[in-house]
Amino acid sequence: MAHARLDRGGPDGSLRVIHEATGYYWLYWPGGRKVLEHRYVWEKANGPIEAGYVIHHSNENKTDNRLENLECLRRGKHVQGHLTGNKEHGRKTQEGMRKAKELS
Ligand SMILES: [Zn+2]
Repeated sequence: MAHARLDRGGPDGSLRVIHEATGYYWLYWPGGRKVLEHRYVWEKANGPIEAGYVIHHSNENKTDNRLENLECLRRGKHVQGHLTGNKEHGRKTQEGMRKAKELS
């Protein structure tokens, strides 16, 4: 966590947002719970992310955690998409996620 910095939130024990050196934002709750912000945003809208799935940033900007920039992808397809530049692999909803599973 070198170079991590507090981006938002206060020292009063409330939720803190940390921008880590990896480029990702993490949410830290009092008591030690921590969640990647983009995963939190997506799950709040769509429910729990299934095992083996990751949340991808459509515009490849890791700091852009708006819901419309987030796609739920199967882990393998996700890596493949990054390697091939295929932008058509995105699935934004649980329905899409189920379809992606059927196709895979
Ligand atoms: Zn990605």
